[in-house]
Amino acid sequence: MNIINSNLIFKGLDYSNVPRMIILHHAAALKCSIEDIHRWHLNNGWSGCGYHYFIRKDGRIYVGRNEKAIGAHCINYNSVSIGICLEGNFDTEKMGEVQYKALVKLSRYICSKYNINKIYGHGELNATNCPGRNFSLERLGSDLKVGAEVESYPGYLLKFNPSVKDKNVELLQSKLIEKAYSVGACGADGYFGKDTLLAIKRFQRDNGLLVDGVVGRESWGKILKYV
Ligand SMILES: [Zn+2]
Repeated sequence: MNIINSNLIFKGLDYSNVPRMIILHHAAALKCSIEDIHRWHLNNGWSGCGYHYFIRKDGRIYVGRNEKAIGAHCINYNSVSIGICLEGNFDTEKMGEVQYKALVKLSRYICSKYNINKIYGHGELNATNCPGRNFSLERLGSDLKVGAEVESYPGYLLKFNPSVKDKNVELLQSKLIEKAYSVGACGADGYFGKDTLLAIKRFQRDNGLLVDGVVGRESWGKILKYV
């Protein structure tokens, strides 16, 4: 997932945000950029763009405030949430698939990073129509759950065992390949052989993990991450 750094300049932020949920918004504008939002929010007298992320209709994801900074997007919840805003007005239009897919990816990334699973629409927490009547929180919730089931930690250690095929090893191998760690000529075949062992050790070394070639909860979480 590619997240674009917007290089916005903020006026004094408070870096004590502790994310426990994601809160979703729409821009209520058919077309706008993160720079527009930043300017609007500065004009409100705020520190700058109140959201942590902004997703355009073409699926590009932009950084707003630093995740650690308290947001300005949802009264009473700004210091315990990540605010994501989507370009568009979902009272009058429907979200396209490209933008929706980017939202799913970003939400998964944030949920796994902070080990959270709560996602609210702004209107569930404050009196507002945001993120718009056409925005389907149900669909997002069920799509995220499907992904979480497939990829959650299997609950046992994955280790060298070249004679047994395991679908969790196969998933691990495909993620290692995605991250440019070769698991040998056989690719993601589900067998934990010596090339997979080497790939995992390299990954562990590169990511500051204990280099033992055994995949427990911590290594699994890092390898399976969406970025
Ligand atoms: Zn909102």
